[in-house]
Amino acid sequence: MKKAIFWFRQDLRVYDNTWFIDIISRYDEVLPIFILDEKIIWNFGWLSDKKFGFIREALEYLDKKIFELSSNSLRVFYWDPEEIIPKLMTDLNIDTLWANKSYSLYWTKRDINLSEKLDNIWKNFVLYKDYLLVEPFEVEQRKVFTPFYKIWQKKIWDTKELKPTKFKQVNFDYNKKASDFIDIKKHPYFTMDFGIDRFQKHIRSDYNEFRNDLDKDWTSKLSPYLRFWIFSIRQIYNKAKNINSHFVQELAWREFWQHINYYFPETKTIEFQERKRHIKWSKDSYLFEKWCNWETWYPIVDAAMKQLLETNWMHGRARMIVASFLTKDLLIDWRMWESFFKRHLLDYDENVNFWNWQWSASVWADPKPLRIFNPSLQSEKFDPKWVFIKKYIPSLKDENIKDIHNPEKGNLKYSRIIVKHSEAQKIARLVYKWELELKNKIS
Ligand code: FAD
Repeated sequence: MKKAIFWFRQDLRVYDNTWFIDIISRYDEVLPIFILDEKIIWNFGWLSDKKFGFIREALEYLDKKIFELSSNSLRVFYWDPEEIIPKLMTDLNIDTLWANKSYSLYWTKRDINLSEKLDNIWKNFVLYKDYLLVEPFEVEQRKVFTPFYKIWQKKIWDTKELKPTKFKQVNFDYNKKASDFIDIKKHPYFTMDFGIDRFQKHIRSDYNEFRNDLDKDWTSKLSPYLRFWIFSIRQIYNKAKNINSHFVQELAWREFWQHINYYFPETKTIEFQERKRHIKWSKDSYLFEKWCNWETWYPIVDAAMKQLLETNWMHGRARMIVASFLTKDLLIDWRMWESFFKRHLLDYDENVNFWNWQWSASVWADPKPLRIFNPSLQSEKFDPKWVFIKKYIPSLKDENIKDIHNPEKGNLKYSRIIVKHSEAQKIARLVYKWELELKNKIS
C-alpha cells in the first residue's frame, strides 16, 4: 500500500496544483494537511488580524474541494511542522512527504531542517516547482530585467493546466479545521469571490494605459491570490498572454526577483551596489512612525499608507511613492519597512519585497542613477481629482485641490508637513552624491 502526505503550504488550491494532482494519481492513499506554523504567524501578525480571515476562507474553500474529491477533509494543524510531520509519518506509517517548492529564506531553511529530520527516520521529503513558470536557475544569471525577460520568455514551455481526480485519504481520526484556530471568517476586501471576479474580468487589454492611475481601479489586484497560489501562475499566464503583453511582463518581474535572490542571496539585505553601502541611513523612529501612521501630511503618501492599513494591500504606484518618500525625503533605512510590510501586506513576498525596496531606494543595480519622486507631481499626475486621496482621507474633502497636491506651498487647514520635499530632495542628492564621492576617494 503506497501512502503519502501532501503538505499544502502557500498553494491553497487543488486545480492545477502540479504535485498534488500528480501524487493523488500515483499513491493508493494520500493525507492532505495544512499547518499554521507558529513562527510564520508571529512574523505575519496575530491570528486575530483581519489578514487571517483571508487564509481561513481560502482554507475552507480548499477543504470543500478536497471533500468533493475524497469525501474527507483537509486536516489543519497549528504548531511547528518540524515536530508535527515526523510524528505523523511515523504514527501513520507513511514514507513520503510531498510539497510544492517555496523560495523565501525561512521556508528554504525549514525545508532543509525537516528534510534532515526525515532522513534520520528513513522518510523522504520531495519538493518541486509550481509557484513559478521558470525556475530561477533555468535562466543564466542576469542583473538587468530586459535581457532576463528575453530569455525567460523562451524558457516557458509547458503551461498545460491540470485537473484533479478523485482520491482516497489515509485513515486518520483527526478533524480540526481552519475555523478551530482562526475566528475571522473572511477578509473584508480580499474574499474568494472578489478574487474570482478579478481573475475573470480584471486582466485588461488596456492594462498599461491606466495601470499607474491611482484614481482608477485598473490593476488586477491579484497579488494576494498569487501569494497564496489561489490561482496557479499558469492559469494567470495563459489568460494574460492572449490579452496584454505588459501584464505578462509584470509576471516576469515577479520571477526576476526570485532569479536575483537565487544568484545573489547575500545581497538581499545589504545594498546591491557596493558603492551605495556607505550611505548612512537614518533610523529616526519618530519620523518612521509618522510615515507608518499616515502622518507625513503629504496627502498622497498618507492616503497610500492608509490604504495599506485598511485593506492590507497598496497600489503599485503608491508603493513607489511611499518608498521614495521614506528613503529619499526622510533618508530612512529601507530595511525598516520590511517588518512593517510583513505585518500588513497580504501579498507580502520576502524576495519580491526586499528587491523592490532596493529598486526604490536606488541601491539596486539599476542603470538609472537616482530616482526621487516629487509627491506633489505624483499626486497631480496620478490622482488629479484626488479621488484616491479623498477615499482614504475623507477629512480632506473640503480642502482646495491645489493645496492637497502641494501641501508645502498650499494652505491646508490641517497641514504640519514633517519635511519639506523641496529641501529634502536636495539633501538626498547630496547624501547619495557625497557618499559616492567618499567611496571614490577611499578606493
Ligand atoms: P498588477 O499590476 O495587476 O500586476 C500583476 C501581477 O504582476 C501582480 O499581482 C504581481 O504578482 C506582479 N507584479 C507587478 N508588479 C511587480 C513588481 N514590481 N515586482 C514583482 N512582481 C510584480 N509585490 C508582491 O507581490 N509582494 C510584495 O511584497 C511586494 N512588495 C513591493 C514593495 C515595493 C517597495 C514596491 C515598489 C513594489 C512591491 N511589490 C510587491 C510589487 C507590486 O507593487 C505589486 O505586485 C502590485 O502592486 C500588486 O498589485 P496587482 O496585483 O494589482 O498588480
